[in-house]
Amino acid sequence: MVDVDMNTERSTDTARYPLASDDAEWRRRLSPQEYAVLRQAGTERAFTGEYWDDHTEGIYTCRACGTELFRSDEKFDSHCGWPSFFAPLAQDRVEYIQDRTFGMVRTEVRCAACGSHLGHLFEGEGYDTPTDQRYCINSISLRRVPKNDRAE
Ligand SMILES: [Zn+2]
Repeated sequence: MVDVDMNTERSTDTARYPLASDDAEWRRRLSPQEYAVLRQAGTERAFTGEYWDDHTEGIYTCRACGTELFRSDEKFDSHCGWPSFFAPLAQDRVEYIQDRTFGMVRTEVRCAACGSHLGHLFEGEGYDTPTDQRYCINSISLRRVPKNDRAE
């Protein structure tokens, strides 16, 4: 259910994230599908993930490191098949990387705490949201936790 598009820049950048782990540790902590998306910049197939059509209130944390990344308050129905947010919980929770795989220029969104791949950011698509941005995030990169009972 996961397409991997290997991002070759990834191997050199783990040292700069506060919650980074080495590759063996990620392989131990994550399922093979989680690893393929979070650590190899894979993409789960549209309409297959856990949260694309989820409307439960909560906080979405990084499935790799537990950092709070997005809130249900900024989630909206983009009908693209992946969980979509018009803004992160705070700008310092995510990092933006120019992604030139597949001959396209896209903006990759990573967890700023551990460097794991979350998805991509698209802008100016005309969605009726406050930012007209779409953080198109893999469900498998996230874990929803209740607002008043936060993980960690
Ligand atoms: Zn993380």
